[in-house]
Amino acid sequence: MIPAEFDYTAPESLQDAISALVDGGEDAKLLAGGHSLIPLMKLRLAAPSLLVDLRKVPGLHGVERQNGHWRIGALTTHSVLEHSPDLGIVAAVAATIADPQVRHRGTIGGSLAHGDAASDLPAVMLITDAEVTLQGPSGQRTVAAGDLFKDYLTTDVGEDEVLTEIRVSAMDGWGYGHQKFNRRSEDWAMVGVAAVVKATDGVCEDVRIGLTNMGAVPRRATAAEEALRGQELTAENIAAAAESAAEGTNPPADLNATTEYKRHLARVLTKRAIRDAVGGG
Ligand SMILES: Cc1cc2nc3c(=O)[nH]c(=O)nc-3n(C[C@H](O)[C@H](O)[C@H](O)COP(=O)(O)OP(=O)(O)OC[C@H]3O[C@@H](n4cnc5c(N)ncnc54)[C@H](O)[C@@H]3O)c2cc1C
Repeated sequence: MIPAEFDYTAPESLQDAISALVDGGEDAKLLAGGHSLIPLMKLRLAAPSLLVDLRKVPGLHGVERQNGHWRIGALTTHSVLEHSPDLGIVAAVAATIADPQVRHRGTIGGSLAHGDAASDLPAVMLITDAEVTLQGPSGQRTVAAGDLFKDYLTTDVGEDEVLTEIRVSAMDGWGYGHQKFNRRSEDWAMVGVAAVVKATDGVCEDVRIGLTNMGAVPRRATAAEEALRGQELTAENIAAAAESAAEGTNPPADLNATTEYKRHLARVLTKRAIRDAVGGG
């Protein structure tokens, strides 16, 4: 399919990119890796009249440790994340996104701004205390990951704002596990679960569990977290807590799975992800 006609600009500064967005109005769209936007344009599900390519804007790439956080530039590709093992759960999850070709083009900023329910990184942001920085015509603001995802393909990023960077907690001393269920290797997740666990002497001091594709937005499995916190990390306690993983969810059925099957997957994958996080395989 061929997209509808559009104008294109590749500004060389952040201010020029924001100005181009403001001038272009609601029909202007930022372009990062293009691996979500261009397919939508080819299907004519999106028809922006102007694409504002971020590729020449300086300062939007890279991964850098800043005290207890990692600062990740919005244009950092999934491939760079995947090959930054110190990022822990972020690197592990990035490595499961699609295939190398997609990972070499797709960016973390694009993934978070786009807000696809099946994207893998948004749920990870919920369990790593992530914050994103948004820069617009009236200045800069910071949004916590928990407030970023509003609805299916709808995020708090304004039409004239650029997501410039992401800050995630370094999660030092936490174990992590990730489970993604799909029909074919490299497909989107039918359901995904990312878990981080802080253990002391075999007891769960804290746990966070992020669910992918269990609704329009990523969410925490709070009932399962509460059930495990303070408990010994035995196989029985982990399995019992995982039984609550789907509590409060009502994921829409789709071509791959019914609602109840997705809820079943959430329970099974949560058990496995926590076991991975505590080293119990
Ligand atoms: C075949 C295929 C398989 C895929 N499988 C998976 C998968 O398994 N898991 C997964 O998570 N993802 C998957 N993806 C999506 C991929 O990760 C995308 O690259 C990513 O979701 C979007 O990033 P992008 O840089 O390509 O964004 P783009 O496509 O360039 O942009 C997406 C949207 O975000 C906006 N945007 C982009 N950057 C910014 C910014 N810095 N500030 C504000 N708005 C911005 C754009 O205007 C656009 O609306 C797949 C894609 C393809 C093509």
